[in-house]
Amino acid sequence: MALRCIVSVLRFGTPRVAPLSTAPVAREQPVAREQSAAGREATSGCRAAEGARPPLPVVDFGNTQEAYRSRRSWELARSLLVLRLCASPALLAHHEQLLHLTRRLLGQSLFDKLMKMTFYGQFVAGEDQESIRPLIQHNRAFGVGSILDYGVEEDLSPQEAEHKEMESCTSAVEREGSGTSKREKQYQAHRAFGDRRDGVISARTYFYANEAKCDSHMETFLRCIEASGRASDDGFSAIKLTALGRPQFLLQFSDVLTKWRRFFHQMAAEQGKAGLAAMDMKLEVAVLQESVAKMGIASRTEIESWFTAETLGVSGTLDLLDWSSLIDSRTELSKHLVVPNMQTGQLEPLLSQFTEEEERQMTRMLQRMDILAKKATEVGVRLMVDAEQTYFQPAISRLTLEMQRKFNIEKPLIFNTYQCYLKDAYDNITLDVELARREGWCFGAKLVRGAYMAQERARAAEIGYEDPINPTYEATHAMYHRCLSYVLEELKHNAKAKVMVASHNEDTVRFTLCRMEELGLHPADRQVYFGQLLGMCDQISFPLGQAGFPVYKYVPYGPVMEVLPYLSRRALENSGVMKGAWRERQLLWQELKRRLRTGNLFHRPA
Ligand SMILES: Cc1cc2nc3c(=O)[nH]c(=O)nc-3n(C[C@H](O)[C@H](O)[C@H](O)COP(=O)(O)OP(=O)(O)OC[C@H]3O[C@@H](n4cnc5c(N)ncnc54)[C@H](O)[C@@H]3O)c2cc1C
Repeated sequence: MALRCIVSVLRFGTPRVAPLSTAPVAREQPVAREQSAAGREATSGCRAAEGARPPLPVVDFGNTQEAYRSRRSWELARSLLVLRLCASPALLAHHEQLLHLTRRLLGQSLFDKLMKMTFYGQFVAGEDQESIRPLIQHNRAFGVGSILDYGVEEDLSPQEAEHKEMESCTSAVEREGSGTSKREKQYQAHRAFGDRRDGVISARTYFYANEAKCDSHMETFLRCIEASGRASDDGFSAIKLTALGRPQFLLQFSDVLTKWRRFFHQMAAEQGKAGLAAMDMKLEVAVLQESVAKMGIASRTEIESWFTAETLGVSGTLDLLDWSSLIDSRTELSKHLVVPNMQTGQLEPLLSQFTEEEERQMTRMLQRMDILAKKATEVGVRLMVDAEQTYFQPAISRLTLEMQRKFNIEKPLIFNTYQCYLKDAYDNITLDVELARREGWCFGAKLVRGAYMAQERARAAEIGYEDPINPTYEATHAMYHRCLSYVLEELKHNAKAKVMVASHNEDTVRFTLCRMEELGLHPADRQVYFGQLLGMCDQISFPLGQAGFPVYKYVPYGPVMEVLPYLSRRALENSGVMKGAWRERQLLWQELKRRLRTGNLFHRPA
């Protein structure tokens, strides 16, 4: 029963009827991947045959007149005030009490007005789809697009959040105690970390209540996608998979994927290939068969049938993508889905038991994703699937990949997110790029550093598993640039692949522009997008947009009171960012003084 669930996950979209989408194209051309780098030169996406490209437009991030051309002076003053307040540790420490007190003193209506003039006005576009339109159109006129994000978050107490989390992250079997969880510690719910909002910045958090609530989240995402479609013809919409179903499935599926991958790495180590990048680990099939047989996982004949010419091509070696495709396929292998437990040395089943109710819930989750992707296709909006905590992320990324297989046929409609603060970010992104190449679908990615660092570190230390985050900021920075370089190289050869550089870091933006110049990637090709949050780093977004680079603001919207929890955390985020963002305030001051000096204080953006 459990196996059917996982298989239907992998047959995403049409869970019970259609065959797997796993790489028929690649399998028909088994040698294609050995040639993929060279072969790509000959694809239709290749730029080699094109004539000389015009130089990249010059972008000056220090020219305040240009950077703030779209902003009235009172907006600059508001930014200065809000960003300054966000940098005050005393104010931040007590901001929730202060907000509460202000509301009681002013009453709801005046409080709403005050918020709209300050924090809400700075970071949120408006209350609903209609009221956000002027801002979207205004930014658009200055070359800056929008990624709509309905910013409403339930205002749960930490106890409520914790209770919901514990209930929704364990299976019926685990709750009954009849089957102690076989999941690794990382993929089990832990009460101390039940409130996933702790220490999280820039990201909204959903807690599972029931299926009806997930349907209502889906309806919200649908309205958001429709609004994006109406607002512009090249919009994005953001979704979070934790809003669409029971997190238990994401945990269980992540556990399966991680164990399967780790098993491959163990085999690679036995063949003396430890320490190589994931894509460079090629295992000798004969040796692998021998090892698997010795472990008693299956008989020799059975094992030989897993690795046929159809599954392997002609190379006689097997890489991590081949290995992963084995659990996609409905071969006899399925019943042998066991992996050795590193601690006990025992073989354990890879899959746990689901009840029929749980199976239905998981199918509903996949159907919700499918409905959203279909709506996005219909209205011409691209969907960005946000990356979340590491204990959900392998499943989120894998389900997103299944959507990409289905919907990214002509162009990238679905964008996956890669968090470069992760130690395995490079392996993750290179594997997915290679898979897209082999299977012939269009790669679309958003690159971020990552929003859950503090929580991830605390959880790993407390529960006792390896910290998944790079050890230092410098290591994350280097990882971001390494992943970005790899993807930009891919874009050079493949005109249909796209990436969004979602960062406020000026170094990273400059690095991207340099690499684009070197690789001949031009903004007019609209392959490289930039992304920043609304209300932050206009000095990066607007010069880029005005110079013709595709750039987008992450635009939250929603009623004042419902967006407040999100706003609180945004304020907290700014406290961290503020330490390094003195430059933004300096530039705002500089521009206000310039306008005062030149008699332009009443500047009207035209
Ligand atoms: C358009 C957009 C979309 C986004 N979508 C997502 C998403 O889907 N998922 C998600 O997780 N985040 C997302 N983010 C948030 C993003 O991860 C944060 O903005 C980011 O963490 C801030 O990084 P930066 O590149 O802007 O700036 P920087 O200030 O240069 O980097 C700060 C980041 O570096 C990393 N870091 C800091 N200190 C250390 C350290 N000691 N060791 C290791 N790493 C360190 C952390 O990730 C930290 O957040 C998104 C951001 C934007 C703008």
